[in-house]
Amino acid sequence: METLETLLEAIAPTTATSREILNPATGEIVGHAPVHGVADLDAAVAAATQAQVAWGSKSHAERSEILVRAADAIDASAEALAQLLTREQGKPLNGPNARFEVGGCSAWLRTAAALELEPEVVVDDGENHAEVHYRPIGVVGAIGPWNWPMMISIWQIAPSLRMGNTIVVKPSEYTPLSVLALAAVMNQVLPAGLLQVVAGDREVGARLSSHPAIGKVMFTGSTATGKAIIRSSADTVKRLTLELGGNDAGIVLPDADPKAIAGDLFWGAFINTGQTCAALKRLYVHEDIYEDVCHELTLVAKAMPMGVGTDEANVLGPVQNKAQFDIVANLVQAAKDSGARVLLGGDPDPEQKGYFYPTTLIADIDNDNPLVAEEQFGPALPIIKYTDLDEVLTQANGLEVGLGSSVWSSDKAKAREVAARLEAGTVWINKHGGVHPLIPFGGIKQSGYGLEFGVAGLKALGVPQVISA
Ligand code: NAD
Repeated sequence: METLETLLEAIAPTTATSREILNPATGEIVGHAPVHGVADLDAAVAAATQAQVAWGSKSHAERSEILVRAADAIDASAEALAQLLTREQGKPLNGPNARFEVGGCSAWLRTAAALELEPEVVVDDGENHAEVHYRPIGVVGAIGPWNWPMMISIWQIAPSLRMGNTIVVKPSEYTPLSVLALAAVMNQVLPAGLLQVVAGDREVGARLSSHPAIGKVMFTGSTATGKAIIRSSADTVKRLTLELGGNDAGIVLPDADPKAIAGDLFWGAFINTGQTCAALKRLYVHEDIYEDVCHELTLVAKAMPMGVGTDEANVLGPVQNKAQFDIVANLVQAAKDSGARVLLGGDPDPEQKGYFYPTTLIADIDNDNPLVAEEQFGPALPIIKYTDLDEVLTQANGLEVGLGSSVWSSDKAKAREVAARLEAGTVWINKHGGVHPLIPFGGIKQSGYGLEFGVAGLKALGVPQVISA
């Protein structure tokens, strides 16, 4: 069982250069991260290639047993991992935040370990017998973002290892310690070479996505970087799973109960202080209940404490970094300048230590306002009034991205009809953004391709091979 101090010791840099990682809530030093380069990546890929031979030849049951032990190791050090995550990422310990994220890592790993993936018999008619098997790919490369650094890494690591691959992970430059610590804990039980973390910059990411010995890249991050990875992976024809940016719409139908849905609307939009790929980022509300929804949502939002993550009372934290803080601040300022109505927030305190942007709700805003049309990825929600269902569907579907969306109604059948007309990889009804280790998740349009989680997610980490007799 690790403590925060022993964890930081375990991941102390051994590289020639290292850099300070600062707490986005306080500016205090959290720890030091190694600065790995392309040569470190090449060495990691060579070790992963070697280790994959023995790991890939183990049975599913043998691999599962080891992965369950890795999940036990995460549970044993869960509090230390959460304490580190809070300090580096900023998210509070409580609420759907750091402790929740570490718990999710264990849950996803256990689910991947428990899933069965039998060969599929696709034809057996006496004349032909054909089966589809899923063989290991080899070495997988993973690149992740800074918003859910541990959870998203485990989404990449768990199915990769389960399917007999080894993996090299390149975390975001903003949150390397969280991923290094998660791997260090798992590596207490994993055989050497299976899981390695290379804490490098974009150059290392670019090398990873063009590396000849890497067979697949799992990427979660922005659409712009996803496109760069498609290009750099082309020459080696790598398999790709791309979980990219989103700008999820939620549509509240006129029969919804504003008071009943306000809490779930709030967390759909503000989970992880709005820094979530599939968060509710544009809320469309029918004119009949528009003022009531605005009122109820404001009441809920006002009651949610924001502050330093290690204070047990807080459920909202800072924006993780200055660049993202500026994006949110500029989008809200542009909305205010356009004459939109501020229901709450919108006025960051220039004297405030840390990148705290207040919980912000903006009403009476046009659909083409940048706060609606662009991904804010922070604690500011635009609420757009609509009158006509066809028109609001056109608006909701009008962007190039399609990760998640939601429909809110007292009539589930009606909500399903609307859901079928939304262009998104997932449509939630009367909730937004919840993921589950057995339910496939992935985007459409420019939110990416490939599915994660469940059996579909395991298949994405294997190469299909048909045996035809
Ligand atoms: P980002 O694209 O800036 O960075 C993600 C990772 O890519 C980092 O590790 C970075 O070092 C690396 N990278 C940058 N340039 C690269 C290159 N040319 N080649 C290879 N790697 C490169 O994203 P971010 O700012 O860290 O994360 C925020 C974005 O991620 C948002 O758009 C959000 O919607 C998206 N996101 C999507 C999901 C999802 O599941 N769809 C989940 C979380 C975040």
